[in-house]
Amino acid sequence: MRTDIARRLLGLPRSSFATTAGRIAELVEAGEDVVNLCQGNPDLPTPPHIVEALRQEVLDPATHRYPAFSGMLELKVAIAEWYAAEHQVDLDPETEVAILFGAKAGLVEISQCFLNPGDVCLMPDPAFPDYWAGVLLAGARMHPLPLLRENGFLPDYDALDPTVSDSAKLMFLNYPNNPTSVTAPLEFYERTVRFAEAHDVIVASDFAYGALPLGGETPVSFLRAPGAKDVGVEFISLSKIFNMAGWRIGAVVGHREVIGAINLIQEHYYVSLPPFIQRAAVAALTGPQDCVRELSDVYRRRRDGFVAGLWDAGWHVDVPRSIFAWLPIPGGGSSVDFAGELLQRANVAVAPGRWFGEHGEGYVRVSLLAPEDRLREAVGRLVDFSAGRVWPSASAARTAPPSGPGARTPVHSTST
Ligand SMILES: *Cc1c(COP(=O)(O)O)cnc(C)c1O
Repeated sequence: MRTDIARRLLGLPRSSFATTAGRIAELVEAGEDVVNLCQGNPDLPTPPHIVEALRQEVLDPATHRYPAFSGMLELKVAIAEWYAAEHQVDLDPETEVAILFGAKAGLVEISQCFLNPGDVCLMPDPAFPDYWAGVLLAGARMHPLPLLRENGFLPDYDALDPTVSDSAKLMFLNYPNNPTSVTAPLEFYERTVRFAEAHDVIVASDFAYGALPLGGETPVSFLRAPGAKDVGVEFISLSKIFNMAGWRIGAVVGHREVIGAINLIQEHYYVSLPPFIQRAAVAALTGPQDCVRELSDVYRRRRDGFVAGLWDAGWHVDVPRSIFAWLPIPGGGSSVDFAGELLQRANVAVAPGRWFGEHGEGYVRVSLLAPEDRLREAVGRLVDFSAGRVWPSASAARTAPPSGPGARTPVHSTST
């Protein structure tokens, strides 16, 4: 029996998050008090009215049968109405919405749907590592879109070689951004539409944090830009908005042919999601939205406490606009070493910036998905641990990548 795995899987990196989770579990087992701010796993429960809706729906035998291929129209209508109410975007539920097994699934599938071996995909660097997996499985190539602090962590399209832009077939974007925690203005999305039109590139906008107004106002959807639906799609997720990460439900909306291709591949993988999950998602999207505002308030308080603690200690970090803080490492140096030592010596787990790409080097990502007292504890330990290092000032934070010739080897993949 030959059990050598197919070549297309060989390129898939192992998850550094999984390895670190194992290391943290060992420490906890050994009685250590670890503050785990490594992953982006929502810590609060799903609002009770959504759980109750699931309970009712699962009692209905109609939800025990195969779901309709490509999902329930009722849910697609709810998604379109939610987009109209929250983001002033018009969508046709029948042709411009696809239901996903979590945004993650769609973010991998879109590359399967559109990239042939050798095709070029423009990839933000740093980026949420799940995007890489789809591109690698398709045998396509990634060309980095460096996200630099001096550009507000937005890609600079003018800095790209036009022949590279012309060769690209697909590009990813993600605002509010994981890991850099910045938002994008409408004007940036208008520029993106012009870039995509000029170079014939499909835009995949990951809007997983789209409904959490941590910056004070609702983040702008890519689809608000005129013409956006003609060049791309946007991914949403119920994981972060409604604390439903374990339920695995998201959607992708926009360009009809892109939606059609994603529905085609999903028909074969899944048929569609469990009907009771789809109906509970309708309850989440059409029910009272106070829970979303309350969650944003909780996250904002945590964020403000965390940032104030670091500022008090002289560590002038930028204010995060999502549920992560993106911290320049005091004194610079390897992010993998810094995070490793921080866990070893101070029992605080964070994600090294290098896990998100070459341009993530020099930073660590701190998840703010923990209660305020645990975040205070983490600030104290971070500050003690970093004592004696050189504090980056707000304006002099390290932004330049540790340069190297274009070869970008993802050092990991999968999972938040
Ligand atoms: C959490 C997250 C997702 C994943 O969403 P799921 O719907 O849970 O798969 C996608 N993109 C980003 C940037 C995320 O942080």
